[in-house]
Amino acid sequence: MIAEVIVDISNGEVDRVFDYNVPSALVLKRGMRVSVPFGRRNIEGYVMKLKESSDLPADKLKSIYSSLDEYAVITEEMFSLMSFMREKYRLRIIDVLRLFIPSQMRGGRVRELKKQYVGLRDEFVGVDVDEYVKKSAHAQRDVCFYLMENGETPLAEMNENFSAAAVRNLIARDVLYVTSVEIKRTPYSSVAESIDEERELTSSQKAAYSVVRSEKNSTFLLHGVTGSGKTEVYMRCISDALTAGKSAIMLVPEISLTPQVFKVFKARFGDEVAILHSGLSAGERFDEWRRLLCGEARVAVGARSAIFAPVKDIGVIIIDEEHDSSYVSESNPRYQTCEVAVRRAEYNGCNLIMGSATPSIESYYYAVNGRYRLVEMNTRVNERALPKMHIVDMTKEYAAGNNGIFSRRLESELYDCVNGGNQAIIFLNRRGYSSYVMCRSCGYVAKCERCDVSLVYHKDEDMLKCHYCGNRYSMLDVCPMCKSPHIKRGFVGTQQLVERLEEMFPGKEILRMDNDTTQTKDSHVRILERFASKKASVLVGTQMIAKGHDFPDVTLVGIVDADMSLHFNDYRSSERTYQLITQVSGRAGRDAKAGKVVLQTYSPNHYVYRFAASGDYKGFYEKEINLRELTKYPPFSKIVRVLVTSENENDAFETLKKIYDDAMNYVNLHRDDFAYAAAMKSPVKRIQSKFRMQMLARITGGTEKAVSKIYDITDKYKNNKATCFVEINPNNLS
Ligand code: ADP
Ligand code: ZN
Ligand code: ZN
Repeated sequence: MIAEVIVDISNGEVDRVFDYNVPSALVLKRGMRVSVPFGRRNIEGYVMKLKESSDLPADKLKSIYSSLDEYAVITEEMFSLMSFMREKYRLRIIDVLRLFIPSQMRGGRVRELKKQYVGLRDEFVGVDVDEYVKKSAHAQRDVCFYLMENGETPLAEMNENFSAAAVRNLIARDVLYVTSVEIKRTPYSSVAESIDEERELTSSQKAAYSVVRSEKNSTFLLHGVTGSGKTEVYMRCISDALTAGKSAIMLVPEISLTPQVFKVFKARFGDEVAILHSGLSAGERFDEWRRLLCGEARVAVGARSAIFAPVKDIGVIIIDEEHDSSYVSESNPRYQTCEVAVRRAEYNGCNLIMGSATPSIESYYYAVNGRYRLVEMNTRVNERALPKMHIVDMTKEYAAGNNGIFSRRLESELYDCVNGGNQAIIFLNRRGYSSYVMCRSCGYVAKCERCDVSLVYHKDEDMLKCHYCGNRYSMLDVCPMCKSPHIKRGFVGTQQLVERLEEMFPGKEILRMDNDTTQTKDSHVRILERFASKKASVLVGTQMIAKGHDFPDVTLVGIVDADMSLHFNDYRSSERTYQLITQVSGRAGRDAKAGKVVLQTYSPNHYVYRFAASGDYKGFYEKEINLRELTKYPPFSKIVRVLVTSENENDAFETLKKIYDDAMNYVNLHRDDFAYAAAMKSPVKRIQSKFRMQMLARITGGTEKAVSKIYDITDKYKNNKATCFVEINPNNLS
């Protein structure tokens, strides 16, 4: 027997299978992990296929050294998914496999946790101890008496309570047997003790649930306002899957994967839930993954990578907060979680539910046009009202002499809220960190003439740049609209906000949550718990506080610099701003007390704020989709970037030039299919001492063929001096 093996080395040149002899004593199955000789050492590999003969001469074939587990770690479905991802994203086999199999498992870094037990062999049970232990061997007799009475006992416990030498002696004499039992390291097992009963569904939950149930193999977009109770609908669907003997995958964005979420699922589904999360210990991850593989757990809950959970016979796949950018993998291996989910749902013939209060424009477009089924939940649980939003025009504050961070309105609302014993959240929008340039007197923002996206200020060159076309502009001294010299280019920091709040509320605790305060593993959770226990009056934070948290006493949300993401250099900046504002606003008034939102902006008439204030997602969508159609941005095009990086600037340049010249041959033959195509230095020219250059294209027609062509061309000019990647609709163009 011959096995085709993929070796665990990430290298373009070994992206193929190698034939190995299978020793006759070895029982192998496709998908098993093996150890094979490669070069001068033994390395790990995976059996892709078993076959009768090899094209290689017998004396050239090496033999598999051993198998590493008793079971296959790659299921049949994953083999099929691997082909799909290889084709679609042009990934190396081993890079796909590394997504499927947790890193803890590879390279023998983690092993099963085994606990050893000892017991009296059958032939000595019920026999007088005198017959096999001398009267003088007191220690040994004690061990035997104990085991006779208590049965199999952990070895460690015996060694501790009795003489370890005596135990050893009895084992050596075959009076005692030793057996090992695997112990699974299960995270959050303590919370599983609490039990969560199903709730009576509200009428909009009921309607949504029955639509989803009525179909077997569809993709749904569940558009439900914040607090409409989407989670309960998800859990009903998961419950149905389990009842039918199937499994389920539940994805949430990494950032909202909090203990709160685990508790909800553990309490409802108990040990059926396995959690896949980067915060677990290596042993826990390894065990949770294997519990799913062997069917001991059937509900996988996790962030993006949990879409590769090794569950079989899936009954439903759920992607919560489907608009979240963390579902797109932006580094190697690059893939789109939603496309992988669609593929797995098709394979299993099950439903895929993508839920959000603020769906991405693309998803909603597909829902409106029938590719997805649209299901809507327009009311909050218990008919609670959505918070009321006040928009403050910051140019007026500035004109009135208020130079502070907070508007007069936000300050007075803060006093009312905190002095009234309630809690407030102050949100600072820091998406992207790139600085746009704005006039403080009239709100004018510098934009690219060609691309209609905000320009980014590059301090090192004192220039403004467009991240979409590479155009450069000189920095403004005065506003071209109103001639005011008050040009703003910095931003407010969370620290500054905290200081101001401490001045306003002496003696009250102000919490801060941002990248700086959440460096350690549990700091995230500790800050949220402190706020939830009402120890602090105000929580100041960035994007991290926008999602999923339920604080019943929060009655005020302040959004300090809403425009930050509005003027981010991205065609999705309006969409992202709408999403962020809606998500943060959703934190206010979740319980009995009504909520208020104060939003500060220099562009008070921007349609994003108008629609967000009235909670009119559809109105926003209509406006936005028309703009996208006009400007030929997704979903009316695909943005493709070929990114070339190298430590040597010239190598990057030469490689990109070849790709570009070749691609332009194609572009010129299909002019109508391209809204744009050009090559340039990347906006961030160097990262980790690698020079970055790129080609950008916006494809409006013949998309599949054009994308495939660009992949082909990039593959053709790949070389060992430069790294080349193709990115489709990337979140980030820096
Ligand atoms: P969403 O994800 O849609 O914003 P959640 O699923 O977080 O909303 O639900 C909001 C709150 O309502 C949660 O505290 C949840 O426990 C509660 N809830 C959900 N459904 C019901 C129901 N049918 N009856 C009572 N409370 C519910
Ligand atoms: Zn101006
Ligand atoms: Zn431009």
